[in-house]
Amino acid sequence: MVELEKVRLQLLELGLSQLAIQLDSLLEKAQRENQTYLSFLSSSLEREIVIRRERKIELKFQMAHLPYRKTIADFDFSFQPSIDERLIRELSGLAFLERKENLLFLGPPGVGKTHLAVALGVEALLQGQSTYFTTLSYLLQDLKQAYEENKLDKRLSIHCRPRLFIIDEVGYLPLDKLEATLFFQLISGRYEKGSIIITSNKSFGEWGEVMGDSILATALLDRLLHHAQVINIRGNSYRLKDRIRAGVYGAPDLNSPG
Ligand code: ADP
Ligand code: MG
Repeated sequence: MVELEKVRLQLLELGLSQLAIQLDSLLEKAQRENQTYLSFLSSSLEREIVIRRERKIELKFQMAHLPYRKTIADFDFSFQPSIDERLIRELSGLAFLERKENLLFLGPPGVGKTHLAVALGVEALLQGQSTYFTTLSYLLQDLKQAYEENKLDKRLSIHCRPRLFIIDEVGYLPLDKLEATLFFQLISGRYEKGSIIITSNKSFGEWGEVMGDSILATALLDRLLHHAQVINIRGNSYRLKDRIRAGVYGAPDLNSPG
């Protein structure tokens, strides 16, 4: 049909590629359901809009670099009773992002710190909020490279852009002087500008040791904790739960990185 082909080309020229692809099925549906002109137009546009929205979110997911896509629904709260399930559900409403508040998940390895940080990232992305996930060691590698190339300011300003910035695994590796300064600059740069989620196996008292500089650690924590919620998780490692049950381990191994 010449007219059908013409419409398809017009849709493509307008950039309505999904409409162009689905034109046949949309027309068929309109005929089958005896749609009015207006409802045909509306349902057709809706299909294009839905697919564009999904694409945009998928692109944001790719830019976020999440290690996986686990959700709050995947989290077994009964295994970790020290976590206030209601608080986590409230956090997944993302009001903390509006308030530019930070979240800190503290606890030993395997208790679900990274899982919960990722799950809140997934929630943010699904709600259209830009998110970036990194481990502290990867972040520092990235900032050091920028520093050496004289592009630190540019890099720091890029890291200020996402609404949610997740830094996983603070505390497993001690920082040298430059790394501690770079970490401080990042926290300071996002202070009151955008939320940060941090996971750490160290209590705040130990951050001075991790950063090799207690004054810098105090200044960093001062900014980080000014508007923040701290979630302390105590309990057994989920990774070892089956082995603990089987009696292979008496208690979780607190020294392995999580
Ligand atoms: P952490 O970051 O505290 O070391 P993770 O979040 O990496 O721990 O958890 C280790 C593994 O166990 C992950 O695969 C995570 O999805 C899973 N996990 C941890 N806690 C739970 C839980 N309560 N329910 C379901 N899965 C969990
Ligand atoms: Mg972890």
